[in-house]
Amino acid sequence: MPISYQPPEIVQLHRILPSEPLLLMGAGPVPIPYAVARANSVVINHLGETMDQVIERVKIMGQYAFQTKSDKIMGVAGPSSAAMEMGIANLLWPGKRALVLVNGTFSRRMGEMARAVGAEVVELDAGEVAPVNAQTVKELLGKQKFDLLTMVQGETSCGVLNRELPDIMKVAKEHGILTLVDAVCTLSTMPMKMDEWNIDVVITGGQKGISTIPGVSMIAFSGDAWEAIQERKAPMSHWCLDARRAYRFWGEHEYHYTAPVPGILAMHEALRLICEETLEKRFERHEISSLGLQEGVEAMGLKLFVPKDYRLNAVVAIALPEGVESSKVRSYMAKTFSVEISGAFGLNIIRVGQMGEQCRSHNLFKTLYAMGMSFRYAGYPVNLSEGMASLEKRLAGDNDHYVP
Ligand SMILES: *Cc1c(COP(=O)(O)O)cnc(C)c1O
Repeated sequence: MPISYQPPEIVQLHRILPSEPLLLMGAGPVPIPYAVARANSVVINHLGETMDQVIERVKIMGQYAFQTKSDKIMGVAGPSSAAMEMGIANLLWPGKRALVLVNGTFSRRMGEMARAVGAEVVELDAGEVAPVNAQTVKELLGKQKFDLLTMVQGETSCGVLNRELPDIMKVAKEHGILTLVDAVCTLSTMPMKMDEWNIDVVITGGQKGISTIPGVSMIAFSGDAWEAIQERKAPMSHWCLDARRAYRFWGEHEYHYTAPVPGILAMHEALRLICEETLEKRFERHEISSLGLQEGVEAMGLKLFVPKDYRLNAVVAIALPEGVESSKVRSYMAKTFSVEISGAFGLNIIRVGQMGEQCRSHNLFKTLYAMGMSFRYAGYPVNLSEGMASLEKRLAGDNDHYVP
């Protein structure tokens, strides 16, 4: 019997891919270490003994990265947004109320998800390029009742850091509210202390701070959050993201769905590298690298978008000067220097990531040089040598033992 349709015209993948992989210096995904890439090419039985060991190791190393003792820590097959949705869909249902603190695209997304599972949502918007104020949250919690508070630690879409996060968590606890924090760009790039700050759910993705492949994420639940999930009577609308089902795999090594084996092996390697480096050293590497970049950008004659007080280090937002087109700068950078950075969702900025493997001196020098040259190409004169000197000064100048 003849088949209905013929195969399409085929194109070999290497003809589509650039001959040199571009250096990914945008807001994610980020470059991955070789050990991670190698692990990502291996498939083993998802329910075998080796995998059982891998799962246990990922949980133990994950506890270190999340700074928690909770054993309700799991991988999620899916983007960071799936981990986010897992947290929200398990803790909210019709009749529940959520307070969603908004700084931009990702924090707002949690409100969309909360509404989608039937919860009543109140959004507290910090306004254009501003962090959430703990006092404002406190006043609102004094007037209204909520079951869950959600927020981002760092808002990647605009480069704002919610530095009052620990105070907000404290206020939420005083009111007996569960909390969910998106630490996608911040986990392992700056302090995030799940237990010490009393956070109930922390989510993170692979392709940002942790520096592994996109599409495999992690989530951790506190004892209180887990109790709320155990006591839930309302039906779960999500089957794959059902935390109780997922824990059959992550806690008891039983079948839930076929786990993304290579992605979990890659996560193992990325977490191992974090443990080997230690969080203290990793935070220092991120801070020095990001400050070097920020100082370099300013010394070149460009303006940073977010005031220093609440500027996120993990993603640096640069204001575009009048008349300079984002796409012109970015495409020249990619085409001429093989360096890719990000535009933005509706804001007149470009964004450079400082997460995981992006924070290496060779990547920083290459990126700053490429960016300076591309601004010149786009018709904006920058002082490139001042910029490069400034970066060098922060990375090595008065600190010659330090090599990020
Ligand atoms: C990138 C990002 C997300 C979304 O990640 P996906 O993997 O695209 O779902 C969510 N929150 C923050 C803070 C992010 O930076």
